[in-house]
Amino acid sequence: MKKTKVICVMNQKGGVGKTTTAVNLATAFAAVEHKVLLIDLDPQGNATTGVGKLNLKYTIYEALLHLKPFEEIISKTFLPFLDLAGSNNELAGAEIELVPVLDREKHLSIALKHLKSNYQYIFVDCPPSLGLLTLNALIACDFVLIPLQCEFYALDGLSRLLSNIQTIKKTFNSNLKILGILLTMYDKRCLLNQQVAKNVRDYFKNIVLPMEIPRSIKIAEASSHGKPIIFYDCKSAGALRYLELANYLLTTFNWNSQV
Ligand code: ADP
Ligand code: MG
Repeated sequence: MKKTKVICVMNQKGGVGKTTTAVNLATAFAAVEHKVLLIDLDPQGNATTGVGKLNLKYTIYEALLHLKPFEEIISKTFLPFLDLAGSNNELAGAEIELVPVLDREKHLSIALKHLKSNYQYIFVDCPPSLGLLTLNALIACDFVLIPLQCEFYALDGLSRLLSNIQTIKKTFNSNLKILGILLTMYDKRCLLNQQVAKNVRDYFKNIVLPMEIPRSIKIAEASSHGKPIIFYDCKSAGALRYLELANYLLTTFNWNSQV
């Protein structure tokens, strides 16, 4: 089997489509029989409920804080090829509880080491901050996928985010690469969206993934039903674009070419 790819979906801004992207890519990959683990690293637990899971016995909190074997916190989902390491608001304490702990930034990476061989792809849905949980994700992963909403301040936060990634790459994880920037919640009729998308593409060139995820009420509806859009309404514009993205990553994308 090929080397497992660990992809974290991050942006320190909230509400930009991280969870939606992580959930839909993880389910789309699993639907075509790639063995996938989805890790919910956000105390809000939206990726967990996003694949229809509630009331988990164990969460990622036990793996990170109490070093409970990762296998024991993983649960099955509605898709045979998709497993979940879920979270809930208990994880909110982890940012502080991890502070005095030895190797606190490496717990996820250590926990994943012997588990990796069970999966082809591991998606990590990050919280909207650059705290210890996100640091754990950046050290454990090989690729960073950055959803970006095409709004006025987008570029501002993005430069800071990219320079943080470079710092982690130099200090903790020389393997780290940027998978790409994904333009989300894109409304082609909105002039500001068009301008920001153009600026981002002109400036960041091929780091920007070729398709934009459209703004779609169906996507918001799907999350409130605990379903990924690709299973809630597979013919909606949002679902088609996420499927197109998944297909592009699985067939055309050159994983070795990234910076
Ligand atoms: P994040 O994880 O970055 O906070 P989410 O993926 O949870 O962002 O998205 C924030 C909210 O916006 C959610 O209610 C989600 O359903 C909704 N949403 C996400 N992507 C889209 C989209 N393309 N169009 C419309 N609503 C979206
Ligand atoms: Mg989220």
